[in-house]
Amino acid sequence: MKRKFLLFGATGSIGDSTLDILRQHPEDFELAGFSWHNNADKAAALQNEFKGAQSFSTNAANAAAETERLLDLAHDFVIVAIVGAAGVHTTLAAAKRGSTILLANKESLVIAGDLVNAVVAQNNARILPVDSEHSSLYRLLSPAAGSAQPNAEWRRVRRAYLTASGGPLLHVHGEAFYNASKALVLKHPTWVMGQKITVDSAGLTNKALEIIEAHYLFRLPYEKIQAVIHPQSYVHALLEASDGTVTQHVSHPDMRYPIAFAMYHPEDPKVCVTDRPPASYPAFEFMPVDEAKFRSYALGRRAGIQGKYFPAVYNAANEAAVAAFLDDNIRFGEISELIEAALAAKYDEWDITSLDGLISYDNAARALVQKRVMRT
Ligand code: NAD
Ligand code: MG
Repeated sequence: MKRKFLLFGATGSIGDSTLDILRQHPEDFELAGFSWHNNADKAAALQNEFKGAQSFSTNAANAAAETERLLDLAHDFVIVAIVGAAGVHTTLAAAKRGSTILLANKESLVIAGDLVNAVVAQNNARILPVDSEHSSLYRLLSPAAGSAQPNAEWRRVRRAYLTASGGPLLHVHGEAFYNASKALVLKHPTWVMGQKITVDSAGLTNKALEIIEAHYLFRLPYEKIQAVIHPQSYVHALLEASDGTVTQHVSHPDMRYPIAFAMYHPEDPKVCVTDRPPASYPAFEFMPVDEAKFRSYALGRRAGIQGKYFPAVYNAANEAAVAAFLDDNIRFGEISELIEAALAAKYDEWDITSLDGLISYDNAARALVQKRVMRT
């Protein structure tokens, strides 16, 4: 039986990798529906290729109703590959349906981790990680695919490490780091990804978002989650056992590994990437994160520990600042300054147990950043 799925955010980088797996294994999967935002040409080409799939643009006024229309279609899983805070509505809508959610949109958990987890639990929905580090952690915790609930296994774990490549600015310091050009920031050394996550990776904001994501995905306390720089991006996660020994999960950096793992789960994934034998691997290096240099990483980690509305503010301020950087309105180093200002600001009190309340913090943080950007 083919597994039917819905792909929200089909026209992006995760969408590309997902559809490549489908093209390689049409005997296993069927695209029942997809969403896109602005890229009408690409959406039309996909519609032409996957003729039976229903589709819509999330840029239209009736996007919420269209999301529900797609969720009405028979499906085995939903992939949320939308970028940014916009993805949280789709994640929650799918969770309310009790769907199995293959979650690439880490921002959903950063903004509303408790809420998403509660809705998932109430509706017997399920989240499978797509982010490579989290997929690797999941695999390290579940030796036979699907056999273990990760949560139950955490007592045995002393520490979990998420690797970070360090991005294109790993060896760029001081003024050169602060003033790094857009061309340099967007030149990721190991991963090919959308623009927003690529900028996030250059400042290690992405790793802070992923630490918060790991906290909510695996109910893992923050003191047990660490990041480690690993420039080669072959090791995606490491687990330290009670005796200090470490298990690591390794692959060539290619998102089709974690995506295929989640799409085939709980069956073993088929081959979707050209074989790379270990003898072809580069030498692996590991080094600590320089928190003084990667200021937005430190801010994000602290926002996660503070909890409440802080992760939502962190995420929104970052999105607004990254957009300003991509529009050539601020320098790279200003991203973390703007995030810091947004985290330090006083806000009205909104209900952090509701999405509306969290979105109010998100809106307020964005407005604060945008106002500051206009002044510069
Ligand atoms: P991308 O920019 O390449 O694609 C984003 C997708 O989201 C597009 O299909 C676009 O149409 C859609 N979109 C944009 N704005 C939207 C909006 N306001 N409402 C609804 N849809 C909108 O991004 P990506 O690199 O594919 O990343 C997608 C998500 O996956 C992000 O949350 C990212 O952090 C996560 N992720 C990506 C990678 C990767 O390798 N690309 C790895 C791990 C996690
Ligand atoms: Mg990742």
